[in-house]
Amino acid sequence: MFQEITKITSREEGTTSIVLVGVHGDERCGIKALEKILPNLKIERGTVLFGYGNPRAIKANKRFTEVNLNRMFNVDKQLTENDKKSYEYQRAQFLKTYLNKAEALLDIHASFIPSSKPFVICEANAKGIIEYLPVSLVVSGFDKIEPGGTDYYMNSIGKIGICIECGYLGDPESIEIAEKGIYAFLKARGHILNDVTPKKQSYNRIYDLYSTKTNNFTLSKNFYDFEEISKDQVIGMDGGKEVRANKDSIILFARSRERIGEEAFLLGEKKNSLT
Ligand SMILES: [Zn+2]
Repeated sequence: MFQEITKITSREEGTTSIVLVGVHGDERCGIKALEKILPNLKIERGTVLFGYGNPRAIKANKRFTEVNLNRMFNVDKQLTENDKKSYEYQRAQFLKTYLNKAEALLDIHASFIPSSKPFVICEANAKGIIEYLPVSLVVSGFDKIEPGGTDYYMNSIGKIGICIECGYLGDPESIEIAEKGIYAFLKARGHILNDVTPKKQSYNRIYDLYSTKTNNFTLSKNFYDFEEISKDQVIGMDGGKEVRANKDSIILFARSRERIGEEAFLLGEKKNSLT
């Protein structure tokens, strides 16, 4: 069994950061990247914590076992009794004790949609770090529209939460992106002394989350992440009713659903800066 949390401290005093992998157990890229990185990693300043998000889901190679761990970091009053009885809720409480020790988080994910491009999820407070990550697309606004992730939790306690989506979970290149992402994060945070160059990035902000109104939501087609949607385009059918975008948008995480009240897709818009 792997060690759940690995702590590496250098002799030079400095800040503390945390890297999480496998918060969704079937998104293997972070787990694989960490296996490659950890044996030879030298931290030159400060402390870095590396953690496995959801060991039970990792073992089962599933996204989660009872509920989505990446919603269990929400405030208790937003969670159901069922949520609070889950393994994932308990796990979130355990992980919070480590998140509390760090000033910045990099949480590594991958998409279930083939041909997905890598991107970063963060808020404006992460600007000085994410511009060095090996990703050209940035999306903000999740804290408000879809709270409850690890990054949301960090931001809510006045720290910096960053989530990197490394592309399609079945694509070996996602492991490479995860590995490069971890190194870039450690350099940007000053744990590894090195020159870093900012990347050209484009910004998007999420403005809406569509939750299903019936137990039969079917997408009109498969949408890839950041696909452009035009005003009034039909996105899907919810119990026989057409669901449209009411302005030109980009779409994220779109999936057909078979239960009422489930997250079906997110809509966002392009921005000139990280807001
Ligand atoms: Zn994920």
